Amino acid sequence: MSSNGKSAKREIKFTKLFINGEFVDSISGNTFETIDPATEEVLATVAEGREEDVDLAVKAAREAFDNGPWPRMSGEARRKILLKFADIIDENADELATLEVIDGGKLFGPVRYFEVPISSETFRYFAGAADKIRGATLKMSSSIQAYTLREPIGVVGHIIPWNGPAYMFATKVAPALAAGCTMVVKPAEQTPLTVLFFAHLSKLAGIPDGVINVVNGYGKTAGAAVSSHMDIDAVTFTGSTEVGRLVMQAAATSNLKPVSLELGGKNPIIIFDDADLDKAAEFATFGNLTNKGEMCVSGSRVFVQEGVHDAFVKKLEVMVKHWATGDPFDLATRHGPQNNKQQYEKVLSLIEQGKKEGATVVTGGKPFGTKGFYIEPTLFTNVTDEMTIAKEEIFGPVISILKFKTAEEVIKRANATKYGLASGVMTKNIDVANTVSRSLRAGAVWINCYLALDRDAPHGGYKMSGFGREQGLEALDHYLQIKTVATPIYNSPWL
Ligand code: NAD
Repeated sequence: MSSNGKSAKREIKFTKLFINGEFVDSISGNTFETIDPATEEVLATVAEGREEDVDLAVKAAREAFDNGPWPRMSGEARRKILLKFADIIDENADELATLEVIDGGKLFGPVRYFEVPISSETFRYFAGAADKIRGATLKMSSSIQAYTLREPIGVVGHIIPWNGPAYMFATKVAPALAAGCTMVVKPAEQTPLTVLFFAHLSKLAGIPDGVINVVNGYGKTAGAAVSSHMDIDAVTFTGSTEVGRLVMQAAATSNLKPVSLELGGKNPIIIFDDADLDKAAEFATFGNLTNKGEMCVSGSRVFVQEGVHDAFVKKLEVMVKHWATGDPFDLATRHGPQNNKQQYEKVLSLIEQGKKEGATVVTGGKPFGTKGFYIEPTLFTNVTDEMTIAKEEIFGPVISILKFKTAEEVIKRANATKYGLASGVMTKNIDVANTVSRSLRAGAVWINCYLALDRDAPHGGYKMSGFGREQGLEALDHYLQIKTVATPIYNSPWL
């Protein structure tokens, strides 16, 4: 492997839909363009799937579920194939990382050495689970012996966002495969290329035709067709709260399929007076600027206790100014372009709103360069809870500093949001850490660290950040259903 960002070959091999193990054009013949956000140039013309293509993909997945080998295979056989898939992902890491960069505006270094390896490790993690899916033996009240079976739920629809296509693909597809499900994957229209390449690799790994199908297309057509399809048994969605609501409505008004929603956040990082300020500044920087802030878990409300506020802001300013912006293939670059024009404009407009409402720009606050969707890493101070930048998910490279006095006060303010995805607490005081972590209404609390995501740690939201858990063995729950099998035993009155 070359592993060198600059010399990575930028070849695009797969642009069609992937249905029943073949790359095919859409039924309508329609296509759409996908853009490189660093250059604003068209990268490829991609087949655009709609309702009729989703229908075809669901038929293939249904046939693979009802009559194909995948759900009937032993867990051990599925484990071996998933392990092979993981190895093939690693062998193709340069190409996968390159696609993530050119299609998603991500940085080659972090994707090549972090996100793609995490994706293959996610397949290994769930490969290890595939032969350990167990039910329970039940102690019934009368003379009946009973046990539970955990069976695959059926055909699953995965609706994927654009901020981490490789990571999201692995997060959703690996547990579904381990459970024995078949599936239709709908990548975001901004970033279809990595998912299509994964589909190709899945075939090389020996995943039978029809088990993984990919339908590129727009949310209102292809996405809506997935969430409302009568023959899809469960849906997972990651993206905006607004669309999460539509997905849930579509599931409710079609076949009542269960949904799992991961909908972003407005996550607090709370820095107490006794925190290690250098570390805290580091966590606040990478907790906000990693992936140009396009992270549902970004810690975009940084609450700093008044005693260390000014010292902390000075440290943070230095770090933010050194967050190198530039060519995504340069391994020294920390900051690339926003994923798409719409997101770029949304972030810039929220920055302007912050200025208008009285927040102070310490550094950044405007577009960077003349080409590509680049925005300067931006640090705001004097942010108050009522400001739009303290309330809305920005999903961009914007850090807001809010001052607080006491633990009681900051707990209330941190929880005063419709979201509840992640949070951070920086303190050396174990009592404060325990109290705050138990009081925060969020799916994750990271104490003296940040972004401590792991394939073994269940990830998901409280409140309007969604429900259902991805990662961890809990992720399997969405893809399995429980059957109770009961039978009378020898002295039973039932006999
Ligand atoms: P989005 O929610 O519109 O898109 C996410 C996915 O949903 C895409 O695959 C899209 O095609 C699909 N989709 C869109 N409309 C649909 C519908 N009616 N039915 C079914 N699927 C549909 O997100 P976006 O517009 O690309 O981004 C908007 C905001 O969402 C961002 O600014 C950010 O705040 C948030 N977001 C959050 C995450 C996250 O990780 N939680 C990821 C991406 C975006």
